[in-house]
Amino acid sequence: IIELKGITKTFDDQQVLKGIDLNIYENEFLTLLGPSGCGKTTLLRILGGFESADNGEVLFNGKDIAKVPPYKREINTVFQKYALFPFLNVYDNVAFGLNLKKMDKDVIDKKVKNILALVGLEGFEKRDVTRLSGGQQQRVAIARALVNEPKVLLLDEPLGALDAKLRKDMQIELKKIQKEVGITFVFVTHDQEEALSMSDTIVVLNDGVIQQIGTPMDIYNEPENRFVANFIGESN
Ligand code: ATP
Repeated sequence: IIELKGITKTFDDQQVLKGIDLNIYENEFLTLLGPSGCGKTTLLRILGGFESADNGEVLFNGKDIAKVPPYKREINTVFQKYALFPFLNVYDNVAFGLNLKKMDKDVIDKKVKNILALVGLEGFEKRDVTRLSGGQQQRVAIARALVNEPKVLLLDEPLGALDAKLRKDMQIELKKIQKEVGITFVFVTHDQEEALSMSDTIVVLNDGVIQQIGTPMDIYNEPENRFVANFIGESN
């Protein structure tokens, strides 16, 4: 569904991405895994349209989307800091984008209720988002990103702010949501265990270069180089 060819990006005099070639497939749970500063977020921002590459191509179903702004892409993003509207309740946060599109109220209502049920927030419609727990706020952010039915969801360390137990629960739930909706997830983490437990495909990045692409089994059992072996072997 997405093809990256020779993506490079330099900030000031630091080359953050050094020629990224990557295919992302439909309905795949793909994880970008690597240490802090390796370029994961930058790559995600290029996919989302929040940043442009210096060189290379981003193709979506074969079409170059380099000049397509984020809101016109069939790609949505969930950030680590949920970025909810504090002055709107749960329902209105989720309905926000649909309201902008001037969609029929009944249609909006149905979509919002369905998606809130999917993320386990049935009955939370009128709640004030600022008074929800971190996990609940993240669910609202996920619901908001899913409600207009994107083809791809980008998630930048979405569980980073949660405590260990909640994080485990959300890992399982996110995976379930992804399969249920039938959508491509591109998930960013620096946590090896999280990547191994959730992904169909793991892309190990270091210093702006892809070190290995494979299934969790491949990456764990057959690391292709010393960096991957060491990084997977480390615990957080
Ligand atoms: P982390 O897990 O810490 O978020 P990351 O792998 O996502 O790390 P990036 O956020 O992509 O890494 O950053 C890669 C490098 O690019 C870092 O050294 C960062 O300081 C630099 N960088 C990112 N964005 C900018 C920017 N807008 N201007 C200048 N430098 C930037």
